[in-house]
Amino acid sequence: MTIHQNLIAGEWVGADGVENINPSNTGDVVGTYARASVEDTKAAIAAAKAAFPAWSRSGILERHAILRKAADEILARKDELGRLLSREEGKTLAEGIGETVRAGQIFDFFAGECLRLAGEVLPSVRPNIGVEITREPVGVVGIITPWNFPIAIPAWKIAPALCYGNTVVFKPAELVPGCSWAIVDILVRAGLPKGVLNLVMGKGSVVGQTMLDSPDVNAITFTGSTGTGKRVAVASVEHNRKYQLEMGGKNPFVVLDDADLGVAVEAAVNSAFFSTGQRCTASSRVIVTEGIHDRFVAAVGERLKSVVVDDALKAGTHIGPVVDETQLKQDTDYIEIGQKEGAKLAFGGDLLKRDTPGFYLAPALFTEATNDMRISREEIFGPVAAVIRVKDYEEALAIANDTPFGLSSGIATTSLKHATHFKRNAEAGMVMVNLPTAGVDFHVPFGGRKGSSFGSREQGKYANEFYTTVKTAYTLA
Ligand code: ADP
Repeated sequence: MTIHQNLIAGEWVGADGVENINPSNTGDVVGTYARASVEDTKAAIAAAKAAFPAWSRSGILERHAILRKAADEILARKDELGRLLSREEGKTLAEGIGETVRAGQIFDFFAGECLRLAGEVLPSVRPNIGVEITREPVGVVGIITPWNFPIAIPAWKIAPALCYGNTVVFKPAELVPGCSWAIVDILVRAGLPKGVLNLVMGKGSVVGQTMLDSPDVNAITFTGSTGTGKRVAVASVEHNRKYQLEMGGKNPFVVLDDADLGVAVEAAVNSAFFSTGQRCTASSRVIVTEGIHDRFVAAVGERLKSVVVDDALKAGTHIGPVVDETQLKQDTDYIEIGQKEGAKLAFGGDLLKRDTPGFYLAPALFTEATNDMRISREEIFGPVAAVIRVKDYEEALAIANDTPFGLSSGIATTSLKHATHFKRNAEAGMVMVNLPTAGVDFHVPFGGRKGSSFGSREQGKYANEFYTTVKTAYTLA
């Protein structure tokens, strides 16, 4: 049995591991992956600390070449890595390959950013003095990632961290170590010096917590649940370290009377159910004005008839399984809660049997929901959405913003006036007009407001705000 080991100080280590299970077929073991201990994690942090002085001063062409090489290999292996992704996470093969391509593009983008590092030179307000503003790496960056984007999220954190000269301790989610292991292997073979990137697969309570508790981790970037995000925040305040959080969402998708019905249905079904509803940008609150409500609900019901839920790797599957049993229980619990609260389960919500044993759930759409129900307020993170009927645009906007979260917000309308007003007034980091709430570009900022996010934005050139610290130097001429 091959064990995919952890990488600490340039050495692959770890004698035993845990099986990674395919949620489309629980009899299929994707691989065996090592689990790091507290000591392993401390050794990884020490290695990253030791590697920092040299890496932070490494040439930009060296960093460019490594990230570029990694991008090329990820893109060349997109089918194989996409398949691994779908096998371990359960999103469809098309989604798995698409996410892998995105990871390659992210490495390519940050390979380019290595060559575009810049500062500013300004005159001082005092005579004969010059001022230079430069950006320097932060130090050891701890990267903690969730299971729902097994290759894209590691890519959008690791690539900028390395690009700007930081060293890394990377802890992927327990459920999906496969893609993380693969990109670390690719980066090491692309020429990263020992200790610059360390991989510590394992439990959040052991590996993650050790990272939070270490005074030698200078910054932590985290994507995951609100509860764990708060722990990251509290521990980071203790250590006076930089931190960046991407957490939950309860993203609204507004449908107005004047919407193009086809556009609205496609965007709503995609937002709510594709990738099994397991995207932090998924929409689980569909807010519909009364003039289009009944036609919209009927059309969504019709559209759902042609949606195939099956093995992620099968041709023709539109929606794969839920990621694991715990998540499935959470989804079915909320389906029960919604019904008890008085919402009407209009479509789906039943467990499905397929050729292979897996966590298959028919996309569930509630109607007659109100915004104060738990299904409208709490993040479910599955293929479960609720339609809330409203009078007009003003009420739709008020309800869209009435949530503790603020990641993404969408609207379907043909009115320029309403689209413009919504873009300006939606309390979210990202706004989508006639597009699903999920599905973002890799070269522009990603992030939210309120309870969804904390700290500066991820992705694109805005990433440098987190991965660098600013220095202002004064020189007497
Ligand atoms: P999810 O519900 O998406 O699994 P979590 O917040 O539990 O969200 O997990 C996101 C990431 O945070 C995972 O890599 C997980 O292992 C890690 N994690 C969980 N608990 C802790 C902790 N106490 N300290 C640091 N990281 C943790």
